[in-house]
Formats: sequence, C-alpha cells, structure tokens
Amino acid sequence: MYKAPVQEIAFTLKHVAGMAEAIDGGPLSDLGEDLVEAILAEAGRFATEEIAPLADVGDRQGARLSNGEVKTPDGWRDLYRNWAAGGWNGLTAAEEFGGQALPHMLNVAALEMWNSGSMAFALCPTLTMGAIEALNVHGSAALKEKYLARMVSGEWTGTMNLTEPHAGSDLGVLKARAERREDGTYRIFGQKIFITWGEHDAAENIIHLVLARLPDAPDGTRGISLFLVPKFLVNEDGSLGARNDLHCHSLEHKLGIHGSPTCTMIYGDGKFGGKGAVGWLIGEENKGLACMFTMMNNARLAVGMQGVAICEAATQKAIAYAKERTQGKAPGWRGSGMSPIIEHPDVIRMLLTMKALTQGSRAITYACAHAIDMAHRATERQEHWRERAALLTPIAKSFATDAGVDVASLGIQVHGGMGFIEETGAARYLRDARIAPIYEGTNGIQAIDLVTRKLPLSDSKQVRGFITELKAIAEAVRSSNLDGFGATADRLGSSLADLEDATSWLLERLAEGRSAEALSGATPYLRLFGLVLTGCYLAKGGLANTADGLGEGRIALCRFTAENLLSETAALKDRVVHGAESFAAARAVLA
Ligand SMILES: Cc1cc2nc3c(=O)[nH]c(=O)nc-3n(C[C@H](O)[C@H](O)[C@H](O)COP(=O)(O)OP(=O)(O)OC[C@H]3O[C@@H](n4cnc5c(N)ncnc54)[C@H](O)[C@@H]3O)c2cc1C
Repeated sequence: MYKAPVQEIAFTLKHVAGMAEAIDGGPLSDLGEDLVEAILAEAGRFATEEIAPLADVGDRQGARLSNGEVKTPDGWRDLYRNWAAGGWNGLTAAEEFGGQALPHMLNVAALEMWNSGSMAFALCPTLTMGAIEALNVHGSAALKEKYLARMVSGEWTGTMNLTEPHAGSDLGVLKARAERREDGTYRIFGQKIFITWGEHDAAENIIHLVLARLPDAPDGTRGISLFLVPKFLVNEDGSLGARNDLHCHSLEHKLGIHGSPTCTMIYGDGKFGGKGAVGWLIGEENKGLACMFTMMNNARLAVGMQGVAICEAATQKAIAYAKERTQGKAPGWRGSGMSPIIEHPDVIRMLLTMKALTQGSRAITYACAHAIDMAHRATERQEHWRERAALLTPIAKSFATDAGVDVASLGIQVHGGMGFIEETGAARYLRDARIAPIYEGTNGIQAIDLVTRKLPLSDSKQVRGFITELKAIAEAVRSSNLDGFGATADRLGSSLADLEDATSWLLERLAEGRSAEALSGATPYLRLFGLVLTGCYLAKGGLANTADGLGEGRIALCRFTAENLLSETAALKDRVVHGAESFAAARAVLA
C-alpha cells in the first residue's frame, strides 16, 4: 500500500526546488518550517490513510450514471467531504474567500500525494482549484462574491468545459453558442465532451466554466468567451435555486481513472426547462481563451504532478514486491534457497530507473511551482520568474507524465506475470497514467509550445541563462571531489552540451522560418531537456548537505542516472538535428 514519502518530498522542495532560499530571507520568509512540515505530514496522512484505501473500489466500481445523476464509488462521497473539511481546496486561494494564500509549492506537493493515493479522486479537486483561480483572476466582484467562498470551502466543485467532438487540440473551431440577454446574463447551448467530474453526487453544486461563441464573434480562437454556468442557479441569499438547463448525457468507458466521471455535457436542450443554460461572462467577451489559459497553465503543472504521483506509487509497489518475490539465484547470492528478485541486476536496473525518473520528475515539477511562486511573490525579477515558469511548464507536464507511463510499465515488468493481473494493483497505475500525456494539451502540443514559444523568450536569454545555471551544478559536482559521484560531472557536462547544441539548432531553424524541421524534433528535444534537468536536479540534491542521513543514497542515485540514463541525450540531440531529413521521403509510407 502507498505510503506518502513526506521526508523526500520536503527535501526536494527545500533543497532542490528552491524553497529553503525562498524562506531564508526570500519572498516566502513568512512561511515557517514548522508549518511546511505540518501541512506535508497531514496531506501525506490523508493520502495514505484515507484516499489510498479507497482507490481500488473506485477503479472496480467506477462512476455510474442513472437518470442523469452520477453516483461516485462507494465511500467517495464521504472521502471528498472529509477532504474538503480539511480546508485543502483553499491552500493557495485568496484569504478573503476563505483560502490560506499559501505557496503553490506546498499545493503541488500535496497534490502529488493525493494523486498517488488515487488519481481519479484527486482530479476533482484539481479541476476545482483551476476554476477557483480563473474566477479569482478574471471574474467580476459580484461573481467572486457569490461563488468563490463556496468553491474554496469545497462545498461546490468546478469543471473546465473546452472540448467538443470536433474541437480538441484546436479549440478555434468550437461551436458551443452563447446568446446575450438584456439582464446581462447569457444563455449557453451546445455539447461538450470528456468533461472531468462534470456531474457527481459528492458536492451540492457544480460550477462549470464553459467556452462558447457569441453570434457576432470573430472566427477562430479570438471569438471565444468564457462563462460560469452553475448546475443549480444560486439565489441572492446564497441558497440553491432551480436546476439550470444542463445535464450529463453519458459517461465514457475508459482505460483508467474509472472513479472519475468523464461526462458528455449538454447545455440548453430544455431537459430541465428553461431556454438555454443561464451563464455569466467571466472576463471580457471574446477573450475567454486567455482567461482559460490562467487555469490551464496551473492545470498543466497539476497534470505533471499526476505523472510524479504515479511514478512514486508504482515504484513503491514494485520495490515491495521485488523484496518478497524469490526466483533463481542472483550472481553472488549466498542465502539459502532462491534469491529475492531485487538481487538480480536487471531488476535493480528497472527499480533504479523508476526511482531516478520519479525523483527527476518531482524535482522538475516542484521547480516549476517555485518559479510560479517567485513570479507572484518576489519583489524583483518577476518577469524572469514568469518566463522561467513558462519555460518549465511544458517540460513539467510532458516529461513527468511520460515518466508516469514508463515507470508504471516498468512496475508491471518487475511484477512479472502478476503485474498483468489486476489484483496486484500494478496494472491500475499504467491504466490511470496513460491519460496524463493526452489531456491538458497533449504532450506533442506541449513540445511545440516549448520550442516555438518558450525557447524564444527574451530573445532566448531565458533558456540560455537557465542552461548556464545548470552548468554551474555540473561544475559544483566536479569541484566537490566526492568519489560517490563517479563520472557524474563529465556525463552532465556532455548532456548539457547536447542540450545547448540542440537549443541553438532549433532557434536557428525558427529564425530562418524552417518551422517544419524544428517541429519534427520538438518531442525528442523536450525529453532531452527533461533528462538533463533530471541529472542536474539529482546532482543538486546529492550536493545538499543535510543531516537526514540519506545523502549517500542521493549521490548514488545521481551517479546511476548520469552513467546509465544520460547517454540517451546524445541520441536525442541527433534526432533533433538530423531526424527531420528522413520525414519527407518516409511520409509516403503512411499513404
Ligand atoms: C479522461 C479524459 C478527461 C478529459 N477531461 C477534460 C476536461 O475536463 N475538460 C475538457 O475540456 N477536455 C477534457 N478532455 C479532453 C482532452 O483535453 C482532449 O482529449 C485533448 O486535448 C486532445 O484532444 P483530442 O482528443 O481531440 O485529440 P486531437 O486534438 O484530435 O489530437 C490527436 C493527435 O493529434 C495530435 N495533434 C493535434 N493537433 C496537432 C498539432 N497542431 N500539431 C501537432 N500534433 C497535433 C495530438 O498531439 C494527438 O496526438 C479529457 C479527455 C479525456 C480522455
């Protein structure tokens, strides 16, 4: 059973991702270490003791639709209410609406643990937190007054309604309609698909954020507006009124995250009376996509956390199994009978790879959260931190969610045949993990974003400055003269050179307008960046001299990563720089 790794999480936050410096005279100086420890410990306890035990029932039963109502799996309604009662929804929310205005770093660490407990369950708060943020930043004072406190308390949950059958990655073609009414409200009509937690029985009301198009809107993404559309209309005194004209038409049958209801939502077909679902504009007309992006950037990081969460849970399960399962005799095994499979070099390779990808993904996502916190709270270099967060977001989302799939798959491999049998629980991690590279902008779209929008930030000074910082870590490893690092400094040095070369090559192609060549290498480039960050952040952790007695293990894992995983960066650079040439001719094979 999953046990939240609170100590390792606290270490990564403080000594790798930058929290210690931010607390020590930085913009988080009012955040006491005791508070950090207490929040992490309680979030971890909730994940371990309350969420994880209900993950299997959620997977087996799934969410069920009957007469338009969605019933959550047994025990999940109370689980959600207990979770909300803990005040967790409001960790980063504004204090005036009942939130605690704490840093994002703490929230993502907590999200990691809740997602390890059950990704399907943690999706509900993830969406609500995004809706809270979009409403807080872009909503009118009246809308905030009416809705935010109840969403922050968790009494009401939130959703994000973008996707339509013909509009997924390309939202510019969405068709949902909005009509103006004289009283300042709007009526919404249309169908949205794949809406996570779009209908359920765990909360009293569901606040849908819906993208739709006004009749006189320009074509494409410039003609999309964002609306708040509640399941139940809310009276002036805050009590719930009539049912709004919207409903869940059906639930998807999915590969994984069975406990999370994935709904087809119909707006404005008159099923509950009325002529159109009543909605209120968030932000300005036709500027809805920008508002939604506020929510989507943090949501992308939150999805990255799902990758980390699956990595951690799958790794814990695989290590526990490998210690118990005995087969054959490992080289050098002196015990009686068969050796535990954890003694076999190939199993050690798999488990260490899982550990390294887990820790690397964790560090990258936390560093991204750190940059977001600095952008909001630092008094200097805010633009620098905004750009750093923007640069790291697609890497955090994609590298961590790809790692989630890879690590969950390795976890099954460690279990042998038992991994393929559902009762073991290893298979669920892979089934759940598989959606994360797809939603919140597919990983392919993230890679395009990284190459075309993020590399050019500040005339490429942001990415070049970042690489310089990473080089300093490699140099610090070299000058530490610690034997335990083995060839880490050299390996980091050559992987950083691969990253630098690939970055320059891409920037040159973009400057020359040869975007097809640049885009052909976008996904290998993102992985290259993620692997380099993994190596550098593990090294930073290894260099941190803490009194927790785990320092040697961190250095050893860093060395394993540098000497086993980083050799991939040379091949990735080669794919970025030379891969595109073969695309045009080989395209004919796909005819
Ligand atoms: C379980 C689940 C939950 C979801 N939850 C929500 C939710 O709560 N709210 C919501 O609005 N949506 C939700 N979605 C929808 C999800 O965000 C979309 O599925 C996703 O954005 C991809 O869109 P698509 O499925 O239409 O794929 P497509 O856009 O058709 O993409 C198919 C493939 O083509 C590639 N591709 C597409 N365009 C390009 C391009 N320009 N350049 C390069 N490659 C491209 C993609 O990377 C992908 O590999 C959910 C989906 C699922 C399955």
